[in-house]
Amino acid sequence: MATKILTEHINVPGIETFDVYRKQGGYTAVEKALKTMTPEAIVEEVKKAGVRGRGGAGFPMGMKWSFLAKPEGVPRYLVCNADESEPGTFKDHYLMKNIPHLLIEGMIVSSFALGANKSFIYVRGELMYVINILEKAIAEAKAKGFLGKNILGTGYDLELVVQPGGGAYICGEETALLESLEGKRGNPRNKPPFPAVKGLYQSPTVVNNVESIATAAWIVNNGGDAYAAVGIGRSTGTKLISASGHIRKPGVYEIELGLPVEDFLYADEWCGGIRPGHKFKALVAGGSSVPILPANLALTLANGEKRLMSYESLSDGGFATGTMLGSGGFIVFDETSCIVRNTWNFSRFYHHESCGQCSPCREGTGWMEKVLHRIEYGHGHQQDIDLLVDVAKKIEGNTICPLGDAAAWPVASAIRHFRDEFQWHIDNPSEATKPGAVYKGE
Ligand code: NAD
Ligand code: SF4
Repeated sequence: MATKILTEHINVPGIETFDVYRKQGGYTAVEKALKTMTPEAIVEEVKKAGVRGRGGAGFPMGMKWSFLAKPEGVPRYLVCNADESEPGTFKDHYLMKNIPHLLIEGMIVSSFALGANKSFIYVRGELMYVINILEKAIAEAKAKGFLGKNILGTGYDLELVVQPGGGAYICGEETALLESLEGKRGNPRNKPPFPAVKGLYQSPTVVNNVESIATAAWIVNNGGDAYAAVGIGRSTGTKLISASGHIRKPGVYEIELGLPVEDFLYADEWCGGIRPGHKFKALVAGGSSVPILPANLALTLANGEKRLMSYESLSDGGFATGTMLGSGGFIVFDETSCIVRNTWNFSRFYHHESCGQCSPCREGTGWMEKVLHRIEYGHGHQQDIDLLVDVAKKIEGNTICPLGDAAAWPVASAIRHFRDEFQWHIDNPSEATKPGAVYKGE
C-alpha cells in the first residue's frame, strides 16, 4: 500500500468539517508544535524532511525557511500560494476543497515556526467556492481556539486571511503575488532581494505552495526523518500529481516519489493506461511550463533504465532528453494529438498571460504565437522552425520572472523532439489543415 501523507483521510465523509477532521487526528500537530516544540525545532524537522517546494521549483522548503531574515521589531509573514493556474495542474484545488483543515493546520504550525502572527492564503480568484470553504473552516478553527489570540492558551496569536487572487496567471509568481496582495497590479519584482528578505510590505516573507504547507502538519507529528524515509534520494516524500489527457483515469493521485513513470501511467491504481484503442505519443510531466517528451523518452532514460517520478530522474539528460517534475501536472497525449496545434495553444496562453514588463517575453511570446499559428493554419515559411528556435533562445534566461522560460521551453522541446511534424505542416499545408489531420510519420 502506497504511503499517503496528505490524502489518507480525504475520502472520509465530512472531513471538510472541524469535528470530523479532529476525530481523524487533525490539529494534533498544532498542539504538539505550540505546546512542546520551539520554532527552531520545527524548522529543523522540516529541513531534515528534505521536502522540496511543491509549487514547481522544487526549492528545499527548510532551507527557504532558514533564509528568513529576522530583523528586530519587523513583522514576518507566511503567504500560502494557492493561485494554482499552471495548465494541467489542479492538485491544490483538490486539497483545499476536500480537506481545508489540513492546509489550515499546516499554516498554523508553519506560521509558528516562522514567527508570523498574520498569514495569508492567496487563492486563485476564479475559485470563489474554495475561498468560501476555506473561510468557513477558518471560522470553525477559530471558534475552537486554534486560531486568533492566545491559541490553546500558549500565548501565540495568529490571524489567517484568505485573499482572492487577481485573476491572472502571473499573480501566481511569488513576487507578483505579493504585489497583488499589497493591492497593486501583479507585476513580478526583480530578485534578489528574495521575499525571505524583502517580501510583503518589504518585510521578510516566506511564500510556500499549498501542498508544501500541508506537509508541515505530518512532519511535526511524525518527524523529519520519517518523511525523508519516504521517496527516493533527494526526492523525499510523496507528491500530488494532477493527471489529465488521453488516459483512462484522469484525477489527482498522491504517489511516493520514485515510482516509475510507466507504472504511474499504465497501472490501474493510477492513470490506468491510454484510452482504449490508442497509443501513447507524448508527455508533459510537470505542467505546461516544462519541456514535452516523446513516449520513449518519457518512459526510459538514455541508459535504458526506467524513468522515475522524481526531480532527478525526470530531469535526467538535461533538456536534450529530459524534462522536469514541475508542479506535477501530468498531461498525456495519444497519437490523435497534433503537437504543432498543442504548442501553439500553449504559446497563445503564455502570450496572453505575459505581464509585458520585459521585452523578450512581451514581444517573444507574441512572435512565437504568430509563427506557430501560421504553421498550424497552412501558411508556414520554410525558415519558421529555425526562427522559433531562435526566438525561444532569446527569451530563455533573459527575463525578470520564469514565465519567459516557461513560454520558451515547450516550443524549443516540441521542435527538438517533433521537428518532422512541424516540417510536415509547412510542406503539406493542404493536408495538414484538414479537420483532425495529424502527422503520422513518414
Ligand atoms: P525559483 O527557483 O526562482 O524560486 C524558488 C523559491 O525559492 C522561491 O520561493 C524563491 O524565493 C526561493 N529562493 C530561491 N533562491 C533563494 C535565495 N537565495 N534566498 C531565498 N530564497 C530563495 O522559482 P519560482 O519562480 O518560485 O517558481 C518557478 C516554478 O513555478 C516553475 O518551475 C513552474 O514549475 C512553477 N509554476 C507553478 C505554477 C502552479 O500553478 N503551481 C504556475 C506557474 C509556474
Ligand atoms: Fe512579465 Fe514575462 Fe517579464 Fe515575467 S518574463 S516579468 S511575465 S514580461
